Amino acid sequence: MSSTPDIIIAGAGPAGIATSIFLSKKGIRHTILEKSALPRDKICGDALSGKVVELLQEIDPNFVDQCEGDTSHFLGSYGVRFVAPNGKVLDIPFKKNLEDLQHAPGYLSKRFHFDHWLSQKIDNTYATLIQNATITSIERTGNQSTIRYLEAGTEKLLKADLIIGCEGDRSIVAKTLGGIRKENNHYCAGLRAYYEGVTGFHPKNFIELHFIRDVLPGYVWIFPLPNGGANVGVGMLSKEVSRKKVNLKSVLEEVIHKHPEISERFKNARLTDAVRGWGLPLGSKKRRISGDGFLLTGDAASLIDPFTGEGIGNAMVSGKLAASMVEASINANRFDSAFLKHYDKMVYEKLWDELKLSHTLQRLTNYEGLFNFVVNKAAKNLLLQETITGMFDDLSMRSRLKKPGFYFQLLFR
Ligand SMILES: Cc1cc2nc3c(=O)[nH]c(=O)nc-3n(C[C@H](O)[C@H](O)[C@H](O)COP(=O)(O)OP(=O)(O)OC[C@H]3O[C@@H](n4cnc5c(N)ncnc54)[C@H](O)[C@@H]3O)c2cc1C
Repeated sequence: MSSTPDIIIAGAGPAGIATSIFLSKKGIRHTILEKSALPRDKICGDALSGKVVELLQEIDPNFVDQCEGDTSHFLGSYGVRFVAPNGKVLDIPFKKNLEDLQHAPGYLSKRFHFDHWLSQKIDNTYATLIQNATITSIERTGNQSTIRYLEAGTEKLLKADLIIGCEGDRSIVAKTLGGIRKENNHYCAGLRAYYEGVTGFHPKNFIELHFIRDVLPGYVWIFPLPNGGANVGVGMLSKEVSRKKVNLKSVLEEVIHKHPEISERFKNARLTDAVRGWGLPLGSKKRRISGDGFLLTGDAASLIDPFTGEGIGNAMVSGKLAASMVEASINANRFDSAFLKHYDKMVYEKLWDELKLSHTLQRLTNYEGLFNFVVNKAAKNLLLQETITGMFDDLSMRSRLKKPGFYFQLLFR
């Protein structure tokens, strides 16, 4: 190994950028290889949860002020609206006392803007960002990885002591070094459509998840965007898409044009971009996310919340943990699988309880009657509403959620 280890980040999405920012905070030099020229689009619901806001604040308290101030690119969102299959509406604020807040608890921002804004926070003192650099293959040779990439049509080569796979759903690092394959039970198909002129949003810009009978066990989302835009989409477990031979595009069109309440809201709306699809690798199963000379983060590590589809927060959290692991590896001069396994422990210690709970909620959507029951109950039960708010707001709430007696109290009080 060279005296300064070669650290490569593959991909400059939220996971890669967070990894880079935290490596730079530790004074660790690294190279980022990014396939696109930034800014670039990413198919997404464009919802930045409280977890993202929290992490941005940890990086630099001014970042959230920037989001709050840039209203043409960031729309503050204060809660989530669940609509049950029976039409019952449940509004859950992200925080208990919305009036006391200095800034919004969550935001909506097109990924074209958010990722670009975040990429401008990369510290060039420690990071070398190479754009238009598509990784095509990775090979382990001795204690290093040889990475081949295409830059403006020319094949180039880099050696890495440690490569951090942050290239999202179709990660070559995950596939080649981690042996990770798509599993339809733990993978969701999603479609995104951009609209203008959708009406009927909550005055505090709540994001909306509609659990419609014909779409179960998936859901339709309608999220407000800055400048009167809307991000509208549908997501469904790939296993169900195959089993029921669902055409997601037709499902979405049907809801928008024919659903009694929703179609009213689209009467004067206009589609502003083609409807596009992308996959969501869900964190409903633990995987090995490190090995000899590599770590996986974000979608490459399959860390998307299986109930809400939120993945940006977990991508950034895993990026932060990856940076800590890189620091420990450099200090110990160890880049082997046995040492790096500690990263898996850190990630799942932080995220697994939450992912497991979301997996349970995801399965609940298979049982329409039970789902209606829970939403009906929650609409009348303040403790349950506050609990759900707490799941968005307060991480300590998660330890309460581990106690079975708590659920009994919630549902049958
Ligand atoms: C339809 C849909 C809706 C979603 N809605 C939400 C939502 O509202 N909120 C939320 O939090 N999450 C949502 N998600 C999940 C979220 O989009 C992802 O979890 C998140 O983008 C993961 O970030 P990442 O950095 O791991 O990967 P990505 O954002 O995918 O970034 C990967 C980067 O790697 C680059 N790359 C890819 N291949 C290569 C290569 N071979 N060489 C070099 N670079 C490469 C890409 O160009 C990209 O810049 C949604 C996902 C989908 C599909």
